[in-house]
Amino acid sequence: MNITDDQLQTVVQNVIKRMSTMDISSGSATSHSAGATGQWGVFNNMNDAIDAADKAFGQYCRFGLQDRKTFVDAVRKVALDYKEEFSRMAVEQTGMGRVEHKIAKHINVAKYASGVEFLQPESYSGANGLALDEYAPWGVIGNISPSTHPSPTMLENIISQLSGGNTIVFNPHPGAKRLNAYVIQCCNKYIVDAGGPENLVTCVAEPTLESAQIMFEHPVTRLLSVTGGPAVVQAAMKCNKTVLAAGPGNPPVLIDETADLALAAKEITASSSFDNNILCIGEKQIFVVDSVFDQFMRLFENEGNRKLIGPQMDNLASKALSLKGKHYLINRDFVGKSASVLAKAIGINISDNVPMLFGETDKNHPWVLSEQMTCCIPVIRVPDFKQGVEIARHSEHYFRHTASVFTQDMNRATEFSRRLDCSIVVINGGTLRGNGGDMGQGTFSHTIASPTGQGITNPRDFCRRRRIMTSHAMRFV
Ligand code: NAD
Repeated sequence: MNITDDQLQTVVQNVIKRMSTMDISSGSATSHSAGATGQWGVFNNMNDAIDAADKAFGQYCRFGLQDRKTFVDAVRKVALDYKEEFSRMAVEQTGMGRVEHKIAKHINVAKYASGVEFLQPESYSGANGLALDEYAPWGVIGNISPSTHPSPTMLENIISQLSGGNTIVFNPHPGAKRLNAYVIQCCNKYIVDAGGPENLVTCVAEPTLESAQIMFEHPVTRLLSVTGGPAVVQAAMKCNKTVLAAGPGNPPVLIDETADLALAAKEITASSSFDNNILCIGEKQIFVVDSVFDQFMRLFENEGNRKLIGPQMDNLASKALSLKGKHYLINRDFVGKSASVLAKAIGINISDNVPMLFGETDKNHPWVLSEQMTCCIPVIRVPDFKQGVEIARHSEHYFRHTASVFTQDMNRATEFSRRLDCSIVVINGGTLRGNGGDMGQGTFSHTIASPTGQGITNPRDFCRRRRIMTSHAMRFV
């Protein structure tokens, strides 16, 4: 049989493509060695990962907005096609959260992460000519992703940043590195299948503090997008570069005597227990005005939550929280654990269906001051609404991240919102409702940039605003 060069080339390409697909579908992103040339975006060396993303940018910037939408839609499809597998892997690798809630987070990303529609140009026409403001990419964006939502944060960052015309390099959290490498491989595969360039998204296979530092300082990464705790936000900000920082929160709730207490109990239960309370926007402490405190405690217990009494809150705190420097931090082993796992640590057996443990503490208790990110929440008596606002504000550590208030007095709600001054304030609802998606209104993101002020991020936040002005010409009307 005679075979032409073209036919031979097609056969070879198909075989290579099938081999690559097999690599990915096996879910063994860790087991293959990611060489200097990378495997669907995964590299052994951070410098190689950055160079590949830079080279990809040279190709990507030639595509138009419609093409970007096609590639971003391919990433949304990854979120939907792999939602169960990614969610199972996240729980296995990090030991945090609940598979069913993680699946919901992937669906939210696919449906609601902001895309190219955010990049409408603005124009100004007048006697002096025409000015056009457009959103231009930075180039390669260096990203840090957290262990708490490894794949949803990564997928949402990819959708936002590719929409903005950028390419992307990640230093993923070491605790989820295998999952994160797999996510990147799947995204690149789907993008290439949709006609896009290779390596629009890259990462290093073995992320370390050193590889993060290389990414921070590399001249090619002109913008850093950092989602994580205080240490990594501080480290990135030292780099003399533009940083978009999605840092920690410690969201307080304030409930006054006019509030619908049954609604508050129901909303806080659903919101704080979601994915075992590892969301930075999930409620972390509840302040209740004294006159309705006991009634609220009964209603919160009626929602299925387990009340801890007397020394039990202290006992659990002594196991789960440690004083590091001036701050109480949660021990890694206790992050994202269910109420039943926490209860077991102090010798109590309860069903895995119990949403939260809760108990009364004072306002300076470690449970109040730490961002605990687990299924135990302190409830604190406050004398009145006014003092409650100040105590809640202090407990939030002035991160200005997220807070909520339950009251029927809209003047009080306004006062609370102004005084707390957070990126997200929710009135009469669970804090999760503040981040759009199926439960809320408005835009949605897993990168809520409180320290640097962007709040719930969208593709514009990953762009530079550029103007072109034609002086005394092109005024068409
Ligand atoms: P983490 O801070 O432990 O880790 C984040 C990443 O930073 C990891 O990749 C880690 O290796 C790296 N890192 C830590 N210190 C570093 C340093 N000095 N230099 C370079 N890299 C460093 O965070 P986590 O436990 O994975 O996530 C939880 C934290 O993230 C919580 O504080 C939570 O509130 C916050 N968070 C915020 C948002 C938001 O939108 N604002 C979203 C998710 C998580």
